[in-house]
Amino acid sequence: MSIVHTILKATLDFILPQRCILCNDEIIQGMLCNNCLDYIPEAKPPLCQFCGRPIKKRSRCGFCKKGTHIDYGRAFMLFVPPYDKIIHHFKYRKKTNLAIFFGRAMASIIKSHYFLKDADTIVPVPLFWWKNLRRGYNQAALLSEIISQECNIKMNDILKRIKNTKTQTRLNEEARRKNVLDAFRVKQNGIKGKRVILIDDVMTTGATINECARVLKEAGAKEVYSCVAAITPG
Ligand SMILES: [Zn+2]
Ligand SMILES: [Zn+2]
Repeated sequence: MSIVHTILKATLDFILPQRCILCNDEIIQGMLCNNCLDYIPEAKPPLCQFCGRPIKKRSRCGFCKKGTHIDYGRAFMLFVPPYDKIIHHFKYRKKTNLAIFFGRAMASIIKSHYFLKDADTIVPVPLFWWKNLRRGYNQAALLSEIISQECNIKMNDILKRIKNTKTQTRLNEEARRKNVLDAFRVKQNGIKGKRVILIDDVMTTGATINECARVLKEAGAKEVYSCVAAITPG
């Protein structure tokens, strides 16, 4: 950063103090105030063992009950208002620093999980190249970089998105599965016999991650786990 930029930024910071992205309270550093941080709705047990979604009693949630290629999965927080706004900032408003916040939280979950901690490699869910170019970054890859450093597990950007799929937001469960069917390819060899952790920002029905897991297993992955920043409740 040039000296002019540095001075300009310092001046702007002085004129426009930083504010919490959720409640707009003034903060000294970071993006969330202490109060909002304290109330983050973490995904707490009992959890679906396959996707990590909090559930009432059963061992798998309504989505995984219909079949899943994920062996074990975990999530950091629930994708519920107003906290879903943090994900929105991370994904669409270039608040890429949030990768450090979410990545560290996800890393600590991975490090304390009996299976996930021993994974061989970390694979981000890819974006279609055009979306990646337009956004300027893949949020799942940013998370994977942080998690890889924190957990000391190699990251391998081995998946490629070959279909520019429709946004899933307005689709029902069945339509989501169809939408992502055959949307991914494995780019090169090297996944055979490996235990893989798939990383993404949000999981709703799990259709996207599940399709990635299917492709990885087809390419010979021994086990596929998942870890996401946020998950919708069961
Ligand atoms: Zn706040
Ligand atoms: Zn589940």
